[in-house]
Amino acid sequence: MPSIDDFTRPKEYISPIDDYFGKIVRQWADKEVIPYRQRYDEDWQEHRLIEPAFDKLMGELGLQRVLFPEDLGGWGLGHSHYTASASFRLMEEVARADSGIAVAFGVTFWPLIMICNEPHLNRRLCEEFAPLFCNTNKAVFAANAMTEPQGGADIENMEIIKGSTIETTAVLDGDDWIINGHKLWPTNSGGVCSLFGVVCTTRPGSKDLNDFAFIFVPADRPGVTQGNSYQKAGMAADKNSDVWFDHVRVPKYYRACGPGDDYKYFKEVISFGNLGSIAFVCGAMMNVFEILQNFCNSNLYRGLPVKEHDAVAAVLADLVKDIEIIRIIGYQYARMLDRPELYGPRWSDEIVAKGRAYKYFACDRAVEDLGRVMNLMESGGSDRARDLEKHWRDIKIVQLWMGGKQLCQMETARWFFDCKTL
Ligand SMILES: Cc1cc2nc3c(=O)[nH]c(=O)nc-3n(C[C@H](O)[C@H](O)[C@H](O)COP(=O)(O)OP(=O)(O)OC[C@H]3O[C@@H](n4cnc5c(N)ncnc54)[C@H](O)[C@@H]3O)c2cc1C
Repeated sequence: MPSIDDFTRPKEYISPIDDYFGKIVRQWADKEVIPYRQRYDEDWQEHRLIEPAFDKLMGELGLQRVLFPEDLGGWGLGHSHYTASASFRLMEEVARADSGIAVAFGVTFWPLIMICNEPHLNRRLCEEFAPLFCNTNKAVFAANAMTEPQGGADIENMEIIKGSTIETTAVLDGDDWIINGHKLWPTNSGGVCSLFGVVCTTRPGSKDLNDFAFIFVPADRPGVTQGNSYQKAGMAADKNSDVWFDHVRVPKYYRACGPGDDYKYFKEVISFGNLGSIAFVCGAMMNVFEILQNFCNSNLYRGLPVKEHDAVAAVLADLVKDIEIIRIIGYQYARMLDRPELYGPRWSDEIVAKGRAYKYFACDRAVEDLGRVMNLMESGGSDRARDLEKHWRDIKIVQLWMGGKQLCQMETARWFFDCKTL
């Protein structure tokens, strides 16, 4: 019988390490996560059960190092022709086991994109931060702190708002930045973060792109406070909290790329956020397929396996149709990010808008499919022991972040219809 490995991958252009990443993460998932994940919900504060799985994946297998240059202990993925497509496979395989782990793992790369990716590799900051991630067998987390109490969607709505609503300030004092502000929700906050990438403004209210700043802040600097974790509907492996920066002092060179370039390359961070979101959805749906295959073969209706009935077959077909399409879209978007000479820069409004469109398409399809699979499995859908309701809760969360569905729709319409005020 076909398995999850029979969903299509674009063999003519995937990364040579795609299969390797797939195999090592599949083994980790089956051994270190899937047998324990039903108890993750109760572990949302302590992470006693979850932490060993992170340590294995990120520290021992070394996957937290992949973006850094090889001579600094990394795997050089930041300067590869396969940065995005290899990342897609990694995120998808991790999300098959647990999308909360996938988010925490993926977001660790999010701020590092600003300094590890070509053509804007910042060698000095790579040298500064590589040892934190590369010289240890324990999981080390980074966070991307953008959302603020006055609204997250506005901060990500970069083309129109241009950073003018950002309230976290960065003021130069000699050779240091002084950072003040309050952030909400960064993945990997709640006490686990070691390194923040902080979205700030050097002139509150300004729409001048030079005033948008992305500055690294080690979490142990005086004045940094991470609040208690929020309790969410799912994704217990991803800790989120308030974070306060109170007169935090960091060296001037901790600014990622500099005036104008911080704004430009942060849009690449948004593109990768969209790619990751598609991969999380795709990975979770692969596991839903596995759960459903098992259910449909072992449950009978009028003496036949339930899959032999028309109405059930329609739900099964819709699910696999959507997995196929979401997978193809995910790899295609990764290809577009990996081949800027063909598709234009990863930070262009076009690439951001297309990523938003693919992300909300994937989320909409997955949320609808999961609802229908829950109906199909009836009481089995709500049974925690079957893990379906876990994916149902987790996938909904993917739809909510990064400005939610509305920002995806606005940016898609804006680019294709040249809207001026949206
Ligand atoms: C699990 C999880 C992980 C997250 N990880 C991170 C992270 O790593 N870093 C980080 O900084 N944040 C993170 N977030 C926060 C997330 O990105 C924000 O919640 C999101 O961007 C929306 O911001 P908001 O909640 O402030 O809603 P708001 O921006 O206040 O929006 C509220 C509503 O208004 C709508 N809206 C806003 N502006 C417009 C407009 N112009 N036109 C029409 N409708 C509009 C929105 O779509 C939404 O429906 C995370 C959130 C979750 C749930």
